[in-house]
Amino acid sequence: MTTTVPPPVHAPGETMPDFLLAAAGTTPARPAVIEFAGNGELRTTSYGELAARVRDTTAALADAGLGPGDRVLLETDTSAAAIGTFLACGRLGVAFVPVSPQTPDVRLATIAASTEPALYLSAGEPRQFLAGAGGVGTLAPEGLRLRRRPARRVRHRREVVAADTAYMIFTSGTTGRPKGVVMSHRAVVAFYHGMLTQGLVGPADRVASTSPFQFDFSLLDIGLALGSGASVVPVPRDLLRWPSRFLTVLRETGTTQVNGVPSIWRQVLRHSWNGLAALHGLRGVLFCGERFPMPELRRLQAALPQARIVNCYGATESMACAFADVPRPLPDDLDQPPIGRAHPGAELLLIGPDGAPVTGPGANGEMYLRSPALFTGYWDDPEATRSALVPDPTDPRSNQVVLRTGDLGCLGPDGELYFSGRADGQVQIRGNRVELAEVERRLLDLPGVAAAAAVVIPQADGDVELAAMIVQAPDAGPFDPTEAAAFCRTALPAYMVPGRIWVVDGLPVTENGKLDRVALSAWATEAGPT
Ligand code: ADP
Repeated sequence: MTTTVPPPVHAPGETMPDFLLAAAGTTPARPAVIEFAGNGELRTTSYGELAARVRDTTAALADAGLGPGDRVLLETDTSAAAIGTFLACGRLGVAFVPVSPQTPDVRLATIAASTEPALYLSAGEPRQFLAGAGGVGTLAPEGLRLRRRPARRVRHRREVVAADTAYMIFTSGTTGRPKGVVMSHRAVVAFYHGMLTQGLVGPADRVASTSPFQFDFSLLDIGLALGSGASVVPVPRDLLRWPSRFLTVLRETGTTQVNGVPSIWRQVLRHSWNGLAALHGLRGVLFCGERFPMPELRRLQAALPQARIVNCYGATESMACAFADVPRPLPDDLDQPPIGRAHPGAELLLIGPDGAPVTGPGANGEMYLRSPALFTGYWDDPEATRSALVPDPTDPRSNQVVLRTGDLGCLGPDGELYFSGRADGQVQIRGNRVELAEVERRLLDLPGVAAAAAVVIPQADGDVELAAMIVQAPDAGPFDPTEAAAFCRTALPAYMVPGRIWVVDGLPVTENGKLDRVALSAWATEAGPT
């Protein structure tokens, strides 16, 4: 293979690959990625092998003409090949845009049209409708195969700097389009440094990663594992649904730490509690993305008496920002675990409705994050960026920007922060971030739909169900909820498709004419308990 990568001109500052591959220099033989291949077989990639793979892939990408400022669309689940590829992108200052193989065509097409990737790489067969645009290739376990080279482009930049974009993660957006969170190397590495101060894992640990690669939670897992010289264990997504298979993966890979959203534990706690309790090597659990329902958290703690359970709070716009150990024992009267405080190097501010900091316990405020780990902005969306990255309310003249999280919090008597909900229509569904407005937009695209409102209905088992109500236009024909759900499925990920859709005469509104979400939730909960 021709090596056309220019030698580094100067130390480029710490980039994501510098940080994640540090152990390749000190402990090259240690396992970096342990993949569960089924039938008791494991595929292990050492740090030395991972670094070699990154070198080869970097050379192949550079040879194909990729460089600073380009974007690569990566359609894959987490694997050693995926990790090697995104690290190679980082080496070249190329931003990677991870997408899941489950992403519906319409959504993927929207992301591709907006990001204009120079190269589209897929772990499976590349999707036909994307194969006509720029470069195309596949990601096999043995490495990258280019099917078509990227088109020639004018290059304005040569140097890789820590302020370059490392990746873009697409989350649900209120406008009906997914929103691209642009994250720089500098910001990710700042977060990784903050996370490592928590002493969550050491070099002997094996960290199971259960989130889809397209969400930054998987990058948190990879950062935690590789940044600590430990191993990352990607859990095959299709095994997560089966409690006994999930436990088999954990057992056979010798996993010591499991990261994931709370809902990954629901089935295990219900059907395989004993199997979980038998995992004596499991010493740590980190959950993130939403509140852990207390009864389930108590059961998890009881099943894993030896484990440190950590509540991690944050948003894609800074990867995450706070870590708090779940108290052991959990006090009987506690209705949710604290989210703690921001990691060292960052600060969570609580700002009241009057714009002044909330300092005493009990009162709610909105959480703002001051941090070197903030995202750069939303891709091609200056307006949304301006409403999320705002002047520091405690010192607006300084020109410092902070992240307006949209999350409400309050201080407990212990000085810890507690999450108290959202200030807007964003919800979490099994750990996935969903803007109800995006679901509503899709429903409004259905012929004959005049108004739509989406709502989440809490279920008795701690889960939530997404439902919707629509109002038909006067001349509309009969409404078919199954067809409507199928229409949503072509553009939205499965967790954003309403399980039930009711036709109503009108939507409840508040005194000032806004959609009354409180009344809506009450109505839906009443109308639709399952
Ligand atoms: P991430 O990818 O970091 O999990 P998302 O960007 O998908 O985050 O969603 C962020 C939102 O999820 C937060 O703004 C908050 O509303 C919610 N959230 C994240 N972590 C927690 C937590 N530990 N407890 C309660 N809510 C959380």
